[in-house]
Amino acid sequence: MDKPPAHAWQHFIANRPTPATASESLDVIDPSSGECFAYIARGRAADIDLAVRAARQAFDGDRGQPAGGVWGKTPALERGRILMRLAAAADAHRDELAALESRDTGKPLKQAQADAVALARYFEFYAGACDKLHGQTLPYQNGYTVLTIREAHGVTGHIIPWNYPMQIFGRSVGAALAAGNACVVKPAEDACLSLLRFAELAAAAGLPDGALNLVTGLGAEAGQALAEHPGIDHISFTGSPETGRRVAQAAAAHYCPVTLELGGKSPQLVFDDADLEAALPVLIAAIIQNAGQTCSAGSRVLVQETIAERLTERLAQGFAALRAGPAGDDLDLGPLVSRKQLTRVGTYVQQAKQSGLRVAAQGQIVAHAPIGGFYQAPVLLANVPPEHPVACEEIFGPVLAVSHFRDEVHALAIANGTPYGLVAGVWTRDGARQMRLARKLRAGQVFVNNYGAGGGVELPFGGVGQSGYGREKGFEALYGFTALKTVALRHD
Ligand code: NAD
Repeated sequence: MDKPPAHAWQHFIANRPTPATASESLDVIDPSSGECFAYIARGRAADIDLAVRAARQAFDGDRGQPAGGVWGKTPALERGRILMRLAAAADAHRDELAALESRDTGKPLKQAQADAVALARYFEFYAGACDKLHGQTLPYQNGYTVLTIREAHGVTGHIIPWNYPMQIFGRSVGAALAAGNACVVKPAEDACLSLLRFAELAAAAGLPDGALNLVTGLGAEAGQALAEHPGIDHISFTGSPETGRRVAQAAAAHYCPVTLELGGKSPQLVFDDADLEAALPVLIAAIIQNAGQTCSAGSRVLVQETIAERLTERLAQGFAALRAGPAGDDLDLGPLVSRKQLTRVGTYVQQAKQSGLRVAAQGQIVAHAPIGGFYQAPVLLANVPPEHPVACEEIFGPVLAVSHFRDEVHALAIANGTPYGLVAGVWTRDGARQMRLARKLRAGQVFVNNYGAGGGVELPFGGVGQSGYGREKGFEALYGFTALKTVALRHD
C-alpha cells in the first residue's frame, strides 16, 4: 500500500501558515525509524524579518508607538483571559499534540502526554499571573511620589531546543505573552511540529494577529538571524553552551538582553543515612526520562563510599530491567532524537569503555526496534573518577556515572567541580546537612530527598556558570520578560 504523502508544514506568521520566502524545506525525521515523514519550511533572514515585522505591528501598531498595537494595548485582564483559552486549547488537543511530539522527538507517548499537560499548565499559570504583575511605590524625598512600572520589552525572541518543545515553549512564550510581549519563535529543526500545531490552535482561540509567530529552519540560518535582528528586544535561549554564547554575542551587537538556559551535569548526592528505597526509583528516573536528553537530568550520582557497592548493585538491577524501543511502544525510553545525538552519546560510552570504566549494567533495546532508528541502551558506569569526561561533561543521553565520596566536604567539592550549575539533589536524613548543602551547592535549584528534573511550573529555574543565567518558570520569569521603569513625580 502506498504511504500517504508527507505533510509539508509552513511557518506560522500573523496567524497564517506562511511559505518560506526561498521556497526551501527541510526533512522531518522519525527517530524511531530514521525515515522522513514530514517537511518543514527552511526559514532564513527574510522569513525572520517578516515575523519580526508582524510582531512589531502587533505590539507597536501602525504608528510605531510602544504598546500601541492591538496586542500591545490589550489590558492585562484580557490577556489573561486569552491565555486561559490557549491553556484550554492545549488541554483539549493534548492527545493530538502529544502524538505529534512523540513521533517528532522519539519520546515515549506517556512522556509527550505529560509535556502536553505541562504546556496547558504553563498557560494556565501565566494566564492567572497577567493581572498580578505590578510595580511598587518607593519612599523618596518629601514632595515626591515615586513608582515603578513593569513594562513589556516589546518583541521577544525565543530559540527552543528539540528535547522538550512543548514544555520549553510553554515556560518561555507563556511568560512573555503574559507580560505583554509579542513573540517570534525559532523552534529546533529536529522537533517543532507540536509547536506549529499549537500556533494554529492559539490563533483559533483568539490570540491577535502577530502576537505569536513561528519561523522554522536551521540554527545557523533562522536562529542566527533572529539573534541578530535589531527589532528583537529580548531573547530567551535554551540549548547548548556553545550556541548560547553565539546567541548572546549576536544579541550584544544590538544591546539586546538574553536569558540563557544551557544544560548541566546535575549531581544527586546520596549519604549513608539516606532512605535508599525512596531514592532508587528517583535516581533512575532522573537520567532515564526522555532518554537522558534533559537539561536538568540527574546524570551524576555521588554516593558515600560506605554504601557505594550496595547502591551500585541496586541501580544495576534497575538499569538491567530498562527497555528502549519505538516511541509508540511507550517503554522506559524511546530512541534519541537524531543520528547526530546517537553518535555523540555512543562516543562517550566508547570512551568510558576504552578507559577501563566498569559498565555495571546496560538496559535492552527491544528486538523489533527498526534498524534505522536512533536507539541507545541505557548505561550505568560504576566508580567513575570525578574528573573523567563522562562524570563532568554533559552527555545528553541515558548514561549515568556513579562516583564515590568520603564525607560531606568531599561530596560538595565533587558536586561543585564542573563548570555547570543547574540542579542538584541531596539524599540524607540529617536536617542540618540538608540545609548546609542546599546553601553551598552551586546550582539554580536544589532538591532535598526528591528530584524534580526542573521541578514544577511554579518553581523558578535556571543556572549559574556554564548552565546559563536568568530565570524562567514561576512568577520570577515575568520579571525577566519585563523592563522596570521608575517614575518620579514632584508635586510640592
Ligand atoms: P543547539 O544549542 O545547537 O540548538 C538549540 C537551538 O538553537 C535550536 O533551535 C537550534 O536551531 C538553535 N541554534 C543553533 N545554532 C544557532 C545559532 N548560531 N544561532 C541561533 N540559534 C541557533 O543544540 P543541538 O546542536 O541541537 O544539541 C547539541 C547539544 O546541546 C546536545 O547534545 C546537548 O548537550 C545540548 N542541548 C541542551 C539542551 C538544554 O535543554 N539545555 C537542549 C538541547 C541540546
